[in-house]
Amino acid sequence: MIQLYQPLNFMGTFYREVRQAVVDIERMFSILGQNPEIADRPGAPALAVEEGNVVFEDVVFHYDEKRPILRGVSFEVKPGKTLAIVGPSGAGKSTISRLMFRFYEPQGGRILIDGQDILAVTQKSLRAAVGMVPQDTVLFNDSIGYNIRYGRWDATEEEVREAARLAQIDGFIASVPGGYEAQVGERGLKLSGGEKQRVAIARTILKGPPILILDEATSALDSFTEHEIQEALRGVAKGRTTLVIAHRLSTIVDADEIIFLDHGRIVERGTHQELLDQRGEYAAMWNRQREAAEARAKIIAAQEDE
Ligand code: ATP
Repeated sequence: MIQLYQPLNFMGTFYREVRQAVVDIERMFSILGQNPEIADRPGAPALAVEEGNVVFEDVVFHYDEKRPILRGVSFEVKPGKTLAIVGPSGAGKSTISRLMFRFYEPQGGRILIDGQDILAVTQKSLRAAVGMVPQDTVLFNDSIGYNIRYGRWDATEEEVREAARLAQIDGFIASVPGGYEAQVGERGLKLSGGEKQRVAIARTILKGPPILILDEATSALDSFTEHEIQEALRGVAKGRTTLVIAHRLSTIVDADEIIFLDHGRIVERGTHQELLDQRGEYAAMWNRQREAAEARAKIIAAQEDE
């Protein structure tokens, strides 16, 4: 009886693990937004990144023919510089990051990295060169350490810890039972949005890509977490060509260039100061956000006085 029970028990564990792996793979595809219709061209070479120069050349894109999303978008991000993309909800900001990762292909124009059209190189080499910190990080049902190491499997224990430190998530890890071995996800620890994002930052630090896309979370984080995340992001963006998709303008005042996207077109571009001086859409959005922040601060101050 015992003999029979054990293999069955083993099968149960095995089945659960396989099932879990399948669920994780499915999740990974949904996280990566993998589009099975996109295939490498026969004999496509690997992308060779030398400096990390990124160019969008008159890029036109729609998900659905009846609804244009990008109507001819052009910009250049010089090696190591930061470009911020701002604009109203639905303007097409995150679409730019999806195209950069080649989850979709543009119907017109070109996207070039160091002069190479991203459609002509292998997807694997492209995705190795581009790191993404998404809006909502979905974690694997595994340990925190595994979730960070996912950035680079051959990273040493020391490198994982260093990445966690730079991403400012090491204090949190030290405070949970099990530390790096603590299980996260559905059956484990539930991480807050800010903690998950810092795990994603640690992952990206380990990966060390020359090109980075930061898709800022729409939901407001508390100002302490916000500050910690900004610090972590600044660290990871240093020396890398960076595209930031920003919802809160206060986070991108130092960007080398800011583009304001509206209905799939760049309607304004410049530095923060240049855009304020133009007194256009960006300046109006800046003033609205500043007034909202001041109003929030007044409410908090009043609550503290009570
Ligand atoms: P937000 O600031 O709200 O995140 P965004 O500027 O990043 O918005 P996108 O996510 O790029 O906007 O979306 C642009 C438009 O494309 C939106 O109207 C959206 O509904 C639409 N869209 C996004 N993804 C898809 C998709 N997979 N299929 C069809 N339409 C989509």
